[in-house]
Amino acid sequence: MQRRVIVICGIVQGVGFRPFVYNLATRHRLAGFVRNDAGRVLIEVEGEPPTLDLFFAELTDHPPPLALIENCSWQRQAPRGDREFRIVVSEAGAISSVFISPDVAVCPDCLAELFDPADRRFGYPFLNCTNCGPRLTIITGAPYDRSRTTMAQFAMCAACRAEYDNPTNRRFHAQPTACAACGPRLQLLDASGQPVAIAEPLAHFARSLLDGKIGAIKGLGGYHLACDARNETAVAELRRRKHRDEKPFAILLPDLAAVESVCEIGATERKLLQSPSAPIVLLRKRAGRGIAENVAPRNPCLGVMLPYTPLHHLLARAVGGIPLVMTSGNRSDEPIAYRDDAVEKLSGIADLFLTHDRPIHVRCDDSVTRVVDGVELPVRRSRGYAPRPVSLPFDCPRPVLAVGGQLKATFAFAAGRQAFVSHHLGDLDHFDAFRAFESDVVLYEQLLAIQPEWLVHDLHPDYAATRFAQERAARSGTALLAVQHHHAHMASCMAENGLTESVIGVTFDGTGYGTDGTIWGGEFLTGNYRKFRRAAHLRPVGMPGGEQAIWEPWRMAVAHLADAGLTSSIPRVSAAELRVVRMMLEKGLNTPLTSSMGRLFDAAASLAGVRDRVSSEGQAAIELEWLATETLAAGAYPFEITAEPEADAAPSALVVDTRPLVRAIATDAGAGIDSRVIARRFHSTVVEIIAAVCGRLRDESGLDAVVLSGGVFLNALLTHEVSARLAVEGFRVCRHRLVPPNDGGLALGQVAVAAARQV
Ligand SMILES: [Zn+2]
Ligand SMILES: [Zn+2]
Repeated sequence: MQRRVIVICGIVQGVGFRPFVYNLATRHRLAGFVRNDAGRVLIEVEGEPPTLDLFFAELTDHPPPLALIENCSWQRQAPRGDREFRIVVSEAGAISSVFISPDVAVCPDCLAELFDPADRRFGYPFLNCTNCGPRLTIITGAPYDRSRTTMAQFAMCAACRAEYDNPTNRRFHAQPTACAACGPRLQLLDASGQPVAIAEPLAHFARSLLDGKIGAIKGLGGYHLACDARNETAVAELRRRKHRDEKPFAILLPDLAAVESVCEIGATERKLLQSPSAPIVLLRKRAGRGIAENVAPRNPCLGVMLPYTPLHHLLARAVGGIPLVMTSGNRSDEPIAYRDDAVEKLSGIADLFLTHDRPIHVRCDDSVTRVVDGVELPVRRSRGYAPRPVSLPFDCPRPVLAVGGQLKATFAFAAGRQAFVSHHLGDLDHFDAFRAFESDVVLYEQLLAIQPEWLVHDLHPDYAATRFAQERAARSGTALLAVQHHHAHMASCMAENGLTESVIGVTFDGTGYGTDGTIWGGEFLTGNYRKFRRAAHLRPVGMPGGEQAIWEPWRMAVAHLADAGLTSSIPRVSAAELRVVRMMLEKGLNTPLTSSMGRLFDAAASLAGVRDRVSSEGQAAIELEWLATETLAAGAYPFEITAEPEADAAPSALVVDTRPLVRAIATDAGAGIDSRVIARRFHSTVVEIIAAVCGRLRDESGLDAVVLSGGVFLNALLTHEVSARLAVEGFRVCRHRLVPPNDGGLALGQVAVAAARQV
């Protein structure tokens, strides 16, 4: 006989690990116990060595579906003569649950129960088990236990309690478990928030949507606004009330067959839609399939999700499987409503509310993802993904909190080899979003039991997150580190790809604070986590009106034209406006310099006649991509690469002179060339620029690994073409698969830089 002490780390709590171990040990007739212990699972098990080997192999090879084993080790101990196997309940006060599971889409077992008339949970919208259900969104503190979730207020009935206490049951210690007798209930509210006394709130809600009404429905991480996606009038009304002119709405479809009937779908997309993370997946639309055009106007793609909670499944069935618009429950760009004040926040938008009494503690937006070349490219990493850790390629000896950027904000904690990137917090300019940022930092700190000794922030002095980090460091005496924006992008892509060598970092985005105080965004960096060199960049031009230029791409067109020595007018812009902007450029009034690739896309979009004004950043660039995908490659525009003149350090930085490119676009536009052809040629030019600059940098540095990061690389066409082109040129190309290339991934890069600088 032998006794072994096994320690397992990873996502092993709140995922049905102990019942799994219990069943496995019992099946092998082994004695001992299993216990949650400070974020790990501790097993002591006694039996014949060959059986123990078998037990260990099964334990590590086939863990429960939601578990993520990071580390597993065992040691021998003297046998104690145990007779049976037990689950030992953690002692009160023990620090627990270092890894918290994300929210998980309803599992097949629960789904079967939901639609089984003989099951006691038949039709119950809040059923769940240890393999599925809400997690992050209902947790109020650590350790993860029902009393520290928003389910604390629901006392379990005898039947639920019996399942919860039974180690062999699928609901053993399933903290959010409930049934119709003891759990949360649906409630229907009218437009003014008054309860509507009705026996079947869900059926009524479904009928209202079919009648063309706009409904608000409380989901896992917040409210959605829903309407019939086939009904052009309802969709237009939703846009009007929400103050959202053209940004696409996501839709909910009942099943994969329905998705296939409206969109083109590949194997990876199929897998993502059905995964426990259940993100919104951007798919290519099939023409004329009954979805109203104004759901995603002019957009070749459609954001699609499958039902991920029992409530969504019931709703999809209640509306007879028709496509439903399912968009964030907010007005304009505010953070989504998730609390009882939803009625107030969505008043004037929703005709009725389908709500319930299980509070949401952590607001969590839907995740959005797309697939390029068969590989996931995350757009927004939030519900269903966060706070699952990303492994670092090296140790982070002292715990770090990285606070990320200003827009698409996330933060990250890191300790050891794990980085925990938070859910999406939105735009920290919004007071509500910033307040959530502050309280969620505290919550993660508790859940992860990480006391940061380093605080990391962006170089930008005016980011709310930067000020937060500085104030906190001043209060606590914690070390403070500023990381340049594009260096963080580069490091983030390196870290998730496990790179440790020096690379060429192609980091293209809209705006990032440079080390010289100008606005960067079309950068080729060389270096590693510890240091970088700005090896090449786009030729800087003025950004007339500063941030105003982000909302008015025509300003960037004028700036680039002026830089290229042209005074062509923009057909859709008034002479007075043009005069003002030209004057600003001439005198340098409120015209910061930028080397931004995002702004060059804006200029190209305006010159091509695609877009002069936008309501969301990058909209013009996105539409340029749509147009480019509609036509075949048609050559590229010229550009030049020169060396920066007054550099004292050799080798001097390269500058991509965009003036020949701008002149050529202006000529094409003037000649009435189709905007799709201009868009395509522009994309091909960016590919050529990247290939040419990377070639020069390889020649001078010997580096042959390229990482692609920054929001511009959400552009699927560009990412696909650049990857292919660089591969042909013999480069090793890495891009984002785990965190978004945009500022949602900054925190991960900040963490990696900090960890490397500690060594
Ligand atoms: Zn389940
Ligand atoms: Zn119950």
